[in-house]
Amino acid sequence: MRRAALATLTGLSLAATALAAVPAQAVPAGPAAGDAGLARLVTLKNVRHHQLNLQKIADANGGNRAAGLPGNKITIKYIADQLKRAGYSPTVQNFSFDFWQETAEPVFAETAPEPKTFAPDTDFATLQYSGSGDVTAAATPVDPGAAGTGSGCEAGDFAGFPAGHIALIQRGGCFFSVKADNAVAAGASAVVIYQLPDQPGPVGGTLTTPYDIPVVGPTNAVGRALVEQAGDGGVTLRVKTEVLNEKREAANVVADTGRGRADNVVVVGAHNDSVTEGPGINDDGSGTATLLEMAKQIHKLGPKVRNKVRFAFWGAEEEGLLGSQYYVDNLPQAERDKVALMLDFDMLASPNYVNFVYDGDDSAGENNVEPPAGSGAIEKAFNDYFASRNLPTDPTPFNGRSDYNAFITAGIPAGGVFTGAEGIKTPAQAAAYGGTAGVAYDPCYHSVCDRYDNVNLKGFDQMIDATAAVTQLFAHSTLTVNGNELARRAPARPGERVVPDEVGVYKTR
Ligand SMILES: [Zn+2]
Repeated sequence: MRRAALATLTGLSLAATALAAVPAQAVPAGPAAGDAGLARLVTLKNVRHHQLNLQKIADANGGNRAAGLPGNKITIKYIADQLKRAGYSPTVQNFSFDFWQETAEPVFAETAPEPKTFAPDTDFATLQYSGSGDVTAAATPVDPGAAGTGSGCEAGDFAGFPAGHIALIQRGGCFFSVKADNAVAAGASAVVIYQLPDQPGPVGGTLTTPYDIPVVGPTNAVGRALVEQAGDGGVTLRVKTEVLNEKREAANVVADTGRGRADNVVVVGAHNDSVTEGPGINDDGSGTATLLEMAKQIHKLGPKVRNKVRFAFWGAEEEGLLGSQYYVDNLPQAERDKVALMLDFDMLASPNYVNFVYDGDDSAGENNVEPPAGSGAIEKAFNDYFASRNLPTDPTPFNGRSDYNAFITAGIPAGGVFTGAEGIKTPAQAAAYGGTAGVAYDPCYHSVCDRYDNVNLKGFDQMIDATAAVTQLFAHSTLTVNGNELARRAPARPGERVVPDEVGVYKTR
């Protein structure tokens, strides 16, 4: 799950308030009667083994598995090697991307009239793809009356902005990059995008492409105090950032089952990278480990796999969904047409979990794009699975924060499950799922503590079963998603009879 690129956190915080109808009593999950098959074959124990290996790879390679760094290169080799051992012929699809890393602690301070230094991480953060610089200048608030409805989103917001000043902008209304572009065009020497009033902490976001000037994101309290001072005789700030911006390589690893129709492919995906701040064992080691074990076990389903299943381990997700977008961009239309649907498994083991299902039918109305027809049937398949085990679910919006995005924007139905990131658990969710209200779904999201023990084993076990059961369902038939019932195979020669076998696979006799 990547950090928000939108200047508003439209997704997770709203999802937290949109609680679906849930059973009053969530019964602890045991294997249900309908569970035979992939959900039983993919065991928590084996998935945890892959997670442990990912932890070891991170620990031995600088503590992370981030794109462009050694831990990710080794992770990619591990995934490819595991797939080969399971009988696959994986494709490693390399691509280059804008690597960004802070090389020194940033400085954000008020130098006048009341000198004070703000604390990195607590009071402010550097936005991803900020440039380097050491700027001391007067700060000018940009359209402070907009109050989160679009401060700095229009070039006109900068009318009269004094060139060389530091732009003081409230988050909200558009992409961070739109605000930064407008500030650059107005001649700002640095950009300060402060947090929304109802959001905790500093702004941790991405500009999606490299910038030449420093861009930092303080908390709302810090930002508001500076705006007040600016209007009250002026305020001078220092912003100092040191970053590395350069092209580096990342890769997708993709492997198809031998069995199943090649013209009606079920893509299941997880991302192979972490952020630089930690090993990413929940985000997305949980999805990676689950997919690897699913890939190893799925051949045991034999002819139940009627559609090819494509296991995709996307690269550089945390850098802006780059691998999945590269994959779809480079997939010819004729090949896109053969993709029946895409399932996204990004964060399945959050310690304070909720069973989030992507809102394919847009029932909560919070999606940032209209999901293609069929996405609702995918959501229903997950909801039905959890309901069959008397487990609750909540919808979560498609808000452009994971790898489904490239698929739904290309018109391919998508869905998936997610156990929550930095969003805060509501009391209603705590009543339904257990865990702690008022605490993040994953307090270790994008941080150093996203380790092997940063996992709710009960929730993860249920999620593994759900991913496996629904993957198996669509490997068998995608009728409800794309109307594609198993086609009769054309006779190989005139007069040949084509008949289904006992599990519905058409064979010639
Ligand atoms: Zn993430």
